[in-house]
Amino acid sequence: MLEILQTPALWLTTTVAFFFGAVIGSFLNVVIDRYPKIQQREVNDAVASMTNHLIPPELACFYEHESKKRQPLSLALPASHCDGCNRPLSWYENVPIISWLLLRGKCRTCGVRIPGRVLWVELFCATYAATVVWFFGMTPFAVMACLVLFVALPLALIDMDTQELPDPMVYILLWAGLLFSAGGVSRVSLQTAVVNAVFFYCLLWSVSRLMPGKLGGGDVKLVAAFSVYLTFHNALYLLILSCVLGLVFVLGGWLANKLSRGKVCTKFYSLRIPFPFGPAICLGGMGVFWWQNIRWLL
Ligand SMILES: [Zn+2]
Repeated sequence: MLEILQTPALWLTTTVAFFFGAVIGSFLNVVIDRYPKIQQREVNDAVASMTNHLIPPELACFYEHESKKRQPLSLALPASHCDGCNRPLSWYENVPIISWLLLRGKCRTCGVRIPGRVLWVELFCATYAATVVWFFGMTPFAVMACLVLFVALPLALIDMDTQELPDPMVYILLWAGLLFSAGGVSRVSLQTAVVNAVFFYCLLWSVSRLMPGKLGGGDVKLVAAFSVYLTFHNALYLLILSCVLGLVFVLGGWLANKLSRGKVCTKFYSLRIPFPFGPAICLGGMGVFWWQNIRWLL
């Protein structure tokens, strides 16, 4: 009887979680698209301010005028618009999942393609949040599990696009993990979390110094951030799994590249160029996180 009464409530909370996940996925699409552009603009501005004295006085006015003319760029501004025709999007073109399906992945004015990734990021976040709430309810653990994915997913995709792992996002993962440990949400004690972060940061930092160019600074910080959510042993498994996954990605990409005669994976995953390690760490981190928690909770 109790189960019958609980079922509608469970469906309701799961549906709410699905919509919440879709909205977060929509926001993450903005982060994935704009964060690298914002960082690039900041770098350009820093370089410009250092080289300002090299601009001849007769051109200085022109550059000042140009910099004032450019659009503001942040996660909030400019408002959502089509990249093809610059038209601001109506509210019904901004509904997560549904808008992409109704528009069939194209702008209704200029027909420019809206990447399929926009849809699957929203769908994946929605399904993940709904699944977590279905099995674990609206609990602090569900909040932690969702937060880990909502930070790891954009990190992996930004690294795929730019081979950069933005520090602020890695720090969110790290500090949230320490707070979850301090608050008792994570079963990993605060002491273990701090020891893991320090140990794995020092270990991988040393490796990156011994083998320059093989391991980026962002990768070092990302492993340390994920280790906060894991026991020491599981953090070691994360390290091993990430290396195995990295190797699988490189070999898979290399094979796809060969079989398609260069049409697939030409940008990344070639044996000749450095490849983004972030996706392997994020996938490995999510895998070990769930393996550890399912053993504890079920
Ligand atoms: Zn358009």
